[in-house]
Amino acid sequence: MPYTNKFDYTTISDDCIKCGKCKSVCPIFSITSDETQSPRGFIDLLGAYKRDQLALDKNSKKIFESCFLCTSCVEVCPNSLPTDIIIEQVRYDIKKKFGLAWYKRLFFYLLRNRKIMDFVARLGYVFQTCGIKIDEQKRGAKFRLNLPLQVIKDRTVPYASRVSFLNSHDEFIKNSTTTNPVKVAVFIGCMGNYAYTDIGKSLLKILKRLSIDVMIPKEQLCCGAPAYFTGDFDTVDYLVKQNITYFETFIDDIDAIIVPEATCSAMIRLDWEHYLHDQPSWAKRAKKITTKTFIATKWLYDNTKLKDILQKDSDINIDKLNITYHDPCHSKKMQDVYKEPRELLKDNYDIIEMKDASQCCGFGGVTMQSSNYGYATQIGGTKAQNILNTKADIVSAECSACSMQITDSLGRSENTVVFKNPIELIAEALKEKKI
Ligand code: SF4
Ligand code: SF4
Repeated sequence: MPYTNKFDYTTISDDCIKCGKCKSVCPIFSITSDETQSPRGFIDLLGAYKRDQLALDKNSKKIFESCFLCTSCVEVCPNSLPTDIIIEQVRYDIKKKFGLAWYKRLFFYLLRNRKIMDFVARLGYVFQTCGIKIDEQKRGAKFRLNLPLQVIKDRTVPYASRVSFLNSHDEFIKNSTTTNPVKVAVFIGCMGNYAYTDIGKSLLKILKRLSIDVMIPKEQLCCGAPAYFTGDFDTVDYLVKQNITYFETFIDDIDAIIVPEATCSAMIRLDWEHYLHDQPSWAKRAKKITTKTFIATKWLYDNTKLKDILQKDSDINIDKLNITYHDPCHSKKMQDVYKEPRELLKDNYDIIEMKDASQCCGFGGVTMQSSNYGYATQIGGTKAQNILNTKADIVSAECSACSMQITDSLGRSENTVVFKNPIELIAEALKEKKI
């Protein structure tokens, strides 16, 4: 399905008043100090591209691929110009013109084919100890061979779990004893499914404690975020429509779809709508699903007694762990969720706020993690230092992309800081509670 742009580059370019407020919050500009790699510069270049004054060549491709899509610029722009969305649009043109690197094609193929991905993850689990050295405590692994590749050298990566989350549990879990129970479906996300499986397990523990019935939709596919940020809109089209068609089969029977991942929840709640803007019948079908979809901590905070339970006896637990909370871009800036995880954590953990908690961690997507990995490590270095300065034992964020990036960034120095999703920390705190 050919995609038509949601936003016109000339209009956006004309609406930019050149105030420069966006530059001070832009991570890529903070590294390069190059106007062309700033929100204002991207907008200017895209205006020139629309007017046929700029060719989409290797140089401009490189520039447009250097944006982290963090949305910091949108937040401060007096006209709320959607720099992130127009960069996503031009990446579609880039993909059409230049194609995709082989590893991206392979990765997106696996995301479209769950059964084959399951097999590859299983294979990865069996053989991973040959190629990587696993640190279970820090939940990361390093390559054993010190290959002269910047993208691998000293890098900490997630490792596969023995069985994926979706293959570890029944499809329906009855926790209620009432006649009209609350029932939620869990959308787990690919990293939570294959690598960070404790997040899903913890969410099930919390839902059990709250007597909420659970559905684990087994046929769920990737939300499409990695492909969307890379311009592979054919893959996005396939994943979004497969998911919508499948979710329609149960959406009327559940109260909510809850997602313990900032990026996946933002993709479903917001980016599906952006993507489907020129396919109104699909957009209408998506709406029924997206209005029932929530990032997990927000739904739990707004709709359950979890906060009350977590408060119980919290003052007698004198030996609280210190944690610091990183605000994922897709959580705070895109969904305005930052208070809820802190509220659910603060009674059982001492939260020490880091400097610039909502500054991007530097993950940035598949291209940033591969061909632009140098930028990712620079931004990640600042985030890691801000975390270490708090002297916290644990850093938390409701996002597995942040988990991967922050664990990698912390892995570049000697420290004992561990990353945990707030859902895991909440489940651990619940063990102590009597009600
Ligand atoms: S989305 Fe982030 S990296 Fe991209 S231009 Fe805006 S502030 Fe800069
Ligand atoms: S903040 Fe908005 S209006 Fe100001 S320069 Fe940046 S994009 Fe343009």
